[in-house]
Amino acid sequence: MRQTTAPHTASAADQAMAELRMENQLLRARLDDLLEQAHRNQNIMARHQSFDLKIIGASQFRELISCIFSSLAIMSELDIVTLHLIDPRQDLQQMLSDLRIDLNEFPHLHFIRHENELQTAGLPTQKPALGRYQPPLHQFLFQSCTHKPQSIAIIPLRRQNKLIGYLNIGSFSPERFLPTMATDFIERLGLIIAVCLENVINNERLTYIGLTDPLTNVSNRRYVEQRIREEIGRARRQRYGIACLYLDIDHFKQINDRYGHQGGDDVLCEVARRIKAELRLSDTLGRFGGEEFVVLLVNANLQDAMLVAERIRRSIANTAFTLSATGNCNTTISIGLTTVSERHNLGEATLVARDMLLRADRALYDAKRNGRNQVRCE
Ligand code: GH3
Ligand code: MG
Ligand code: MG
Repeated sequence: MRQTTAPHTASAADQAMAELRMENQLLRARLDDLLEQAHRNQNIMARHQSFDLKIIGASQFRELISCIFSSLAIMSELDIVTLHLIDPRQDLQQMLSDLRIDLNEFPHLHFIRHENELQTAGLPTQKPALGRYQPPLHQFLFQSCTHKPQSIAIIPLRRQNKLIGYLNIGSFSPERFLPTMATDFIERLGLIIAVCLENVINNERLTYIGLTDPLTNVSNRRYVEQRIREEIGRARRQRYGIACLYLDIDHFKQINDRYGHQGGDDVLCEVARRIKAELRLSDTLGRFGGEEFVVLLVNANLQDAMLVAERIRRSIANTAFTLSATGNCNTTISIGLTTVSERHNLGEATLVARDMLLRADRALYDAKRNGRNQVRCE
């Protein structure tokens, strides 16, 4: 009996063992999968954490935007990232341009004047929206991309209950962003980026206020002095000449006496505007004190500078000034001019700057002594 049942029992035991082995193998494979998944998640978490630290650490606009366009795309393996900021009065763009932040560096950064532009187009304003890229609806958000995405996430950026812009991310894979996916992580990303944007914009505003004359909105003395030193260094490296104009409104005290302080302020603002209108974007204009301005022309020789100075002088002398409360008035300006040619740009930049301003001021004094409303050079 034992002999007949023994093989049968053995084969049942073998089968049970084989099943166990198989189960064991499956469990091992599943464990490997889970471990691999855990490693992947850990990697993703570490990458996100380092991205968070990077953007939270950005103190300047340029640094943050570069980080959003480069690091975010790499970290999240995105094919496309665009950013739209709402700037109704265009003062953000003006400030950034005054701070010499070159927005052309960021072709995928756009400014929108009215948030309605996007809301009426059916875009989300509270929560992110994920799904397929639909050309008429989403075209505007991805206008700067040659190759359009297949699936996208549109993330409204909000601060203090206000929409401040949109972060738009896209993939060439149609399955990457599906409407059914959870949006917690993307919402969190939008929140962090909105806070960081607000922070860097506030920082830039503080810098801007510290470097701007509050009456005329042109740069203040501190900024111009710093810029002159930088431009002297750049002119030396790139081998070109620079010119400096020292400008002073003639008999300005009489304008104040006749038209009041407000009338004087109106003239100051309009003079600044007229000077600026004659300059190139690369030139610098600053208010140096009461009714005195300094202009720095880059890549300019004596002849170029004389032409610009004459244009400024004429634009002030030839057209009357409209005052906000007390009618019209006429005024003139005296200008002292000097240049630093490539050959003479030697020694410490601070000393070259000081000497240049001194010579321009002496030339201005000459113009005053010779009857005002004229350009003199030294
Ligand atoms: P000159 O032709 O020799 O330059 O004579 P001026 O009258 O222009 O020069 P002066 O230095 O005697 O007078 C400058 C005046 O500018 C005196 C000051 O009250 C006035 N001033 C300075 N800052 C401001 C300002 O911010 N607003 C106004 N309205 N006046 C200012
Ligand atoms: Mg003066
Ligand atoms: Mg004066």
